[in-house]
Amino acid sequence: MRGGTITTTINPAHAVASPDPRLIVDLDAIARNYGTLCRLAGGAQVAGVVKADAYGLGAAQVAPRLAKEGCRTFFVATAREGEALRKALPGLEAEIFVFHGYWPGERARIVSARLIPVLNSADQIEAFRADGGGACAIHFDTGMNRLGLSSRETEELIAGASTLAGLDLRLIMSHLACAEAPDHPKNGAQRDRFADIVRRLPPCRASLANTGAVLLGEAYHFDLVRPGIGLYGAHPANTSGGPFEPVVAIEAPILQLREIAAGETIGYGAQVTADRAMLTATLALGYADGFLRATSPGAAGRIGNTRIPLLGSVSMDLSVVDVSAVPGQLKPGDRVRFLASALNETAAAAGTIGYELLTRLGSRLTRVYESDR
Ligand SMILES: *Cc1c(COP(=O)(O)O)cnc(C)c1O
Repeated sequence: MRGGTITTTINPAHAVASPDPRLIVDLDAIARNYGTLCRLAGGAQVAGVVKADAYGLGAAQVAPRLAKEGCRTFFVATAREGEALRKALPGLEAEIFVFHGYWPGERARIVSARLIPVLNSADQIEAFRADGGGACAIHFDTGMNRLGLSSRETEELIAGASTLAGLDLRLIMSHLACAEAPDHPKNGAQRDRFADIVRRLPPCRASLANTGAVLLGEAYHFDLVRPGIGLYGAHPANTSGGPFEPVVAIEAPILQLREIAAGETIGYGAQVTADRAMLTATLALGYADGFLRATSPGAAGRIGNTRIPLLGSVSMDLSVVDVSAVPGQLKPGDRVRFLASALNETAAAAGTIGYELLTRLGSRLTRVYESDR
């Protein structure tokens, strides 16, 4: 600015009153959840899983904040995600692992963005070596039957561990099928199998734990843990409680308020009939924003501490809530808050889990990043 009075033709009151639904992401809460995971992990290194655009919250904002907290190891699903992440972390000596493995067509991307493929089969190990090798990880399947070297491939690799020669092996890993269920016998079985593999291979950094397995305790931590959902404030078992702070909220503005008489119906399909006179609010938030249609009935927003239940089905751009219980006068433009500490409850109402709810959050939501720093 070069001095003089700056005048603006935009009335700031109008800018504030715009009815865009917002997604509020609290980067400080993510940082505190990272700190909590570091304490829970004891001496193990804590990586950040930022696949699927950091579970829908924005990897370009989340990853630099994690880096500020000391995180130097990140996991993404695809090489494309890895390339975007590298651009979001300029000048940082960060390791970026790619879960989906090595695909020769992605060689150029892997090299230029310095990505580390997580090799998932004997064929991928061979293909990677044939194309010139480099930094890599190996995923051993210990019972999930999803990705990773099979038992047979694992035994062959251990028997001829010399075939690892020439590979710059940075990490060996596996993944638990039931980590969010602490009493499941598969947890101990997979941990024992992984420990056995680690013992029989040449020394290498080892990793088994997602968020759920961090909570299972030290026996599951090995050298590096790979939490995702805990960073984003949800309990992996989709229950409320747990050690993580809420990170994300939707703020949906009220477009209209209506007084409804007993006996009137609300929304598509006339699914709900008012059993009493009520005050309803029509919100600028729908399933096109990723607010799943199945969240209603069952889920609720909040104004202050008052619970605001959804009425009728969520439509593409709109939903209706019962605001009869809100003390004081509401007006269009006032906002109803969703998710936050009710993330798991909202997911459960929709018959899904916090993970899916987060990764479905729509691009029409204006992302607002909050941070005290
Ligand atoms: C997604 C993923 C994680 C992170 O899991 P959370 O349950 O979100 O902590 C860790 N490891 C692998 C292999 C994954 O696919």
